[in-house]
Amino acid sequence: MTKKITMKTPIVEIDGDEMTRIIWKEIKDALLYPYIDLKTEYYDLGLKHREATGDQITIEAANAIKKYGVGVKCATITPNADRVKEYSLTKMWKSPNGTIRSILDGTVFREPIIIDGIKPIVPTWTNPIIIARHAYGDIYAGVEFVVGKDGGTVSMTHPDGSSLIVKNFGGAGIVQGVHNTDKSITSFARSCFNFALDKGLDIWFSAKDTISKIYDHRFKDIFAEIFEEEYKEKFKQRNIEYFYTLIDDAVARVMRSSGGFIWACKNYDGDVMSDMVATSFGSLAMMTSVLVSPEGYYEYEAAHGTVTRHYYRHLQGESTSTNSVATIFAWSGALRKRGELDSIESLVEFANTLEAATKETIEKGYMTKDLVGLFSKPGINPKALDTIGFLGKVAETLRIKFSR
Ligand code: NAP
Ligand code: MG
Repeated sequence: MTKKITMKTPIVEIDGDEMTRIIWKEIKDALLYPYIDLKTEYYDLGLKHREATGDQITIEAANAIKKYGVGVKCATITPNADRVKEYSLTKMWKSPNGTIRSILDGTVFREPIIIDGIKPIVPTWTNPIIIARHAYGDIYAGVEFVVGKDGGTVSMTHPDGSSLIVKNFGGAGIVQGVHNTDKSITSFARSCFNFALDKGLDIWFSAKDTISKIYDHRFKDIFAEIFEEEYKEKFKQRNIEYFYTLIDDAVARVMRSSGGFIWACKNYDGDVMSDMVATSFGSLAMMTSVLVSPEGYYEYEAAHGTVTRHYYRHLQGESTSTNSVATIFAWSGALRKRGELDSIESLVEFANTLEAATKETIEKGYMTKDLVGLFSKPGINPKALDTIGFLGKVAETLRIKFSR
């Protein structure tokens, strides 16, 4: 390549913590700067800077994504009591991902990165299964209480005085009250349909409307209405489908499928199923994640955290073998989307080449330690590289691809 790719609009670059912060800088130095006149608006969400700004920086970063449309985020520490001590924090700051998600009102889609040589545990899953989890309400915003041995009545009284008995307890028991809102379900549906169009993949949605005739049925109805009114034609043009089915039927179909679709799940189903799917595809380090807002803003990141255990070893001067693939794919995702929105063909092509070079590097047998035990390909003896060594190999593969 002779000339560096120029960009029009900046990408919102959100830096983070620990091992992933080290990887972040190396990705830019080794894989991006040599090829792109990288234009970003930089937000440092490293815990020290969140503390220094009273976490205002997180809000500013989320608003910048609203302004520019595309962001890429490094993993960040969500403080707990130990972190408050470790970083002498004045407050246990909230999860940055939670803050950003609530400002963008988005849905998180998790997608596994498939490598020739790393077989999914479910052998038929030869294409990615992307899980969309509704991240609001249900048991995650539930109210629960214990009913004592003397029992009692749980009821709802409407403003007009009429009432509905939920349960008359004759003895001890438990109660759970859950809710959701039309607004949140509507946003979820739009994010799902937008992402399906973006990826050109079918989307499935599942719930238990046969048993939950009002609650789950409301989800089904809202999805159906939004689809009919806003997406049906666009889906036809893109040659993709929306498909609703019962959660049990969905599970059975998913197991028999070859992947290659998006599976939208209610909050709890998504929590559980995303771990199942991630496990089958090998490693959390091979899982990317994108937050899509109902307005069509995108924030790309790795699904894993800051890999604290490796970072502490790094601080001790020990060598680490931390997998950077999901973070590379977060960058390629953001660059591709930026290229598409600004009609910069070379940027889209670069993103595709970067992903291909990363996969090829592993397929040739160069990988981080976490993948060695999962990898099996005739004639190739997998080699475990350290964190920077692996990125160096990817850079080499990329150079070869561009010098051809
Ligand atoms: P983690 O950072 O995902 O790491 C958990 C373990 O998984 C690691 O110790 C490592 O196992 C393995 N692992 C994860 N990513 C890997 C990678 N890229 N390469 C190789 N191995 C990898 O989760 P955590 O330890 O529970 O959390 C650490 C910090 O990250 C916390 O402060 C948490 O708040 C934060 N976090 C942030 C996000 C986010 O920003 N999206 C998400 C989750 C967690 P071995 O040690 O066995 O090698
Ligand atoms: Mg879970």
